[in-house]
Amino acid sequence: MRALRLLNWKSEPELTEVDEPSPGPGEVVVKVGAAGACHSDLHLMHDFTAGAVPWNPPFTLGHENAGWVHTLGAGVTGLEVGQPVAVYGPWGCGTCPRCRLGIDPYCENPAGAPVPGGGGGLGLDGGMAEYELVPDARHLVPLPDGLDPVHAAPLTDAGLTPYHAIRRSWPKLPPGSFAVVIGVGGLGHLGVQLLKATTAARVIAVDTRPDTLRLAQEYGADEVMVSSDGTADEIRRITGGRGADVVLDFVGADPTVRLGAAVARTVGDLTIVGLGGGTLPVSFFGVPYELSIQTTYWGSRPELIEVLDLGARGLVKPKITTFDLADAPRAYQQLSEGTLEGRAVIVP
Ligand code: NAD
Ligand code: ZN
Repeated sequence: MRALRLLNWKSEPELTEVDEPSPGPGEVVVKVGAAGACHSDLHLMHDFTAGAVPWNPPFTLGHENAGWVHTLGAGVTGLEVGQPVAVYGPWGCGTCPRCRLGIDPYCENPAGAPVPGGGGGLGLDGGMAEYELVPDARHLVPLPDGLDPVHAAPLTDAGLTPYHAIRRSWPKLPPGSFAVVIGVGGLGHLGVQLLKATTAARVIAVDTRPDTLRLAQEYGADEVMVSSDGTADEIRRITGGRGADVVLDFVGADPTVRLGAAVARTVGDLTIVGLGGGTLPVSFFGVPYELSIQTTYWGSRPELIEVLDLGARGLVKPKITTFDLADAPRAYQQLSEGTLEGRAVIVP
């Protein structure tokens, strides 16, 4: 079968011919219906070197996947061949307290996971291929009626990651509150929708690209702004001088983490999701009192079920552009140039 593989760090992925996987006991092979192209893949290709993460190439890219159950390994029950499923992407050890709660990204026994801190497309073969081997049937979530694999795939990361970040901040987002979304790309365009669907906060969206801000407006962002030197002042003005209750930074570069700290409110949340490598000097008078600053990684399996429900009911809808597997390099090119809106989805 065809597979788009990252063969080395600091290299472009290559479309190669590999053997079709067959499932061992407890494993499932999924016929891939769709695999989203995430900006994290660009970090894998261009920014990472050996030692950055506890695994290495070669592996097939694609960590946000959905499709249909193709073959079941011995002992797998509760799934049927042909059934549409989303693949829960972070694969932990399965037995530590966090994995038992479905919080695989924060697995406490990484040595017991298929690869520490990774999953399909992140150290193991992912979904940018005709078939994906899923090493544990518990990672498959049946798709609710009304959701097809092409729209479900982005929800497994570009949807789940902002959902997790937003959900943990729900208590800080009552009516009257403000949330700032920095970076309205694959994750951010769903972040805006998830804020509107699950909170009563006013949403302020910031990006460098006017086009994607128009998209944010379509999704109900109350204010949009092209980032400039005046952005922090403008957000302060809009929030009545208080600042935003929650800032979600889907870029994570120096200018955005600093903007986040400059516009967050006392007792607010500044959540850094983007892997842009920015740093934030923190000192007593340098940040608002009781501002909580955190990074988040992906989301839990129960949260994926919730996001898929929102997707099936049309409350969040990824804006997608589809590409054939052979065309995946063009999708990454557009993602890298910033000429894509929403998410690129590879349909093998
Ligand atoms: P994307 O390229 O689709 O979107 C990024 C958006 O940020 C674009 O719209 C771009 O115009 C905008 N942007 C870039 N620089 C900006 C700046 N200085 N100010 C304002 N806006 C700016 O990327 P994506 O797939 O949505 O991923 C976003 C980031 O999140 C990446 O760093 C990715 O690696 C990371 N990520 C993290 C997790 C996690 O679990 N923490 C999961 C998935 C992706
Ligand atoms: Zn991702």
